[in-house]
Amino acid sequence: MNEINLLASVTTFLQRSHGHYINGVAVPGQENETFSVINPASGEALATVNQGGESEINQAMQAASAAFHGVWAQTSPAERGNCLNRLADLLQKNGEELAQLESLCSGKPIQLSRMLDVGASADYLRYFAGWSTKITGETLNVSLPSLKGEKYSAFTYRDPIGVVVGIIPWNFSIMIAIWKLGAALACGCTIVLKPSEYTPLTLLRVAELAKEAGIPDGVINIVNGSGARTGSSLINHPQCAKVTFTGSVPTGISVGKLALEQGLKRTTLELGGKNAAAFLSDMTVEQMVDGILEAGYLYQGQICAAAERFYIPSVHMDAVLTLLSERLSAMKIGYPLDESTEMGPLANKAHYQKILSLFEKARQEGSEIVYGGHALEGPGFFVAPTIIKAKSVEDTLMKEETFGPIGTFLSYDDEETLISLMNATPFGLSASLWTNNLSKAMRMTPRIEAGIVWINMHTFLDPAVPFGGSKSSGIGREFGSAFIEHYTELKSVMMRY
Ligand code: NDP
Repeated sequence: MNEINLLASVTTFLQRSHGHYINGVAVPGQENETFSVINPASGEALATVNQGGESEINQAMQAASAAFHGVWAQTSPAERGNCLNRLADLLQKNGEELAQLESLCSGKPIQLSRMLDVGASADYLRYFAGWSTKITGETLNVSLPSLKGEKYSAFTYRDPIGVVVGIIPWNFSIMIAIWKLGAALACGCTIVLKPSEYTPLTLLRVAELAKEAGIPDGVINIVNGSGARTGSSLINHPQCAKVTFTGSVPTGISVGKLALEQGLKRTTLELGGKNAAAFLSDMTVEQMVDGILEAGYLYQGQICAAAERFYIPSVHMDAVLTLLSERLSAMKIGYPLDESTEMGPLANKAHYQKILSLFEKARQEGSEIVYGGHALEGPGFFVAPTIIKAKSVEDTLMKEETFGPIGTFLSYDDEETLISLMNATPFGLSASLWTNNLSKAMRMTPRIEAGIVWINMHTFLDPAVPFGGSKSSGIGREFGSAFIEHYTELKSVMMRY
């Protein structure tokens, strides 16, 4: 192992008592009810966090509501943007500390934490900062009849929606929270974030940086606790106007139902999928394998937009799987804080056990495990990157999201069949087509049912490009200008003069 040294600030932070961050201060929470944060690379406890109960939930929602109607409403759009830009600067200034914490808690290779949870998060914040001064309505022409010579005019503007509850998964505990808080704050909303119980620490540090950036108290609040209890109570709270959730499909559906039942609270759901990557026969075997590694195996496959279903022309299947096995066997699997690590452990024990049971399921169903399909020795939640050759679209691993380093492969012979195979899923988050024939790609793309279709790339997101799921993969879009619709309420004004 060749690990980097932990910064003193990381060690000190871990030793602190952890709870919540409400109205600009750390709040201890319920000391008699705690949960442990486990390092997935060793299985050892890193820290203990006090649960949030009714008292913390109420304090956070009241603080967010007071800030929404008070200080944040009086903060000009330009100053809101300045606040987000200053937070972006501080994320970068404290980037190594945040990246180390993120890698320790989630098992993400440190280079990825630096690039995404720090670097990309700062870019997203700056993008949202730019929007804060550009949220406008329209002036409309009215065609009402004018009987006495009177005139009419109409215009729209966008009201910030109110207090947003953001529920965050464990895979990108900083970046996904930044997507939500950047969008909310740019639009004039305030936010209460609930991180995953597996990764509750990094956001507590981000909240401190937000204060240092001059973001007023109460605008960003963090409440830790379990999804079923703390998450639901936040959604139920009368001050919650909108829920923005990223996580699994089943949880997303129950969150969406609850939000609707609680007075049609506005909801954005970014859910999972079973994303397809399809390679056309003009690609070389090497190009296909490079594409598969990019699409399916980054960060142990724990990326919602990653591909899990791979479609390969029959003539190339054997050669692709042979070369892919060679490339996976050369992959450096190791400790997340080793800079040369390409693949770390799975993020938590429950997920590790789920992946092991999916290996078992594949065996029981008679799918061919071409490579991997087992746990790796030693402490921590490590599994081998895995290649499975499916018998048909009916194999469990062609249908169920694994969210792990498992590519499931099916061959095809003609492109009409390929499109129906790609669409044969209730999900529709992302898909990719790999070909040098751009004309073919442009003709096939509109027929692919997914919120984002990549051509000759996969998994890359950009703040300027809307992102979200079609079909059962979600409701709403983040990024681009599309996010504005989801954090504001459109108000129309008509006048006679
Ligand atoms: P979960 O759906 O299990 O949890 C997501 C969040 O919801 C966590 O904070 C969890 O809290 C909370 N939660 C759980 N139950 C409830 C509830 N009843 N009410 C309110 N909140 C609840 O997902 P994971 O954290 O396991 O993340 C993995 C999933 O997220 C994958 O399916 C993946 O595809 C999806 N995902 C989607 C993305 C997208 O943009 N489309 C991006 C990233 C991930 P706790 O953990 O504390 O119980």
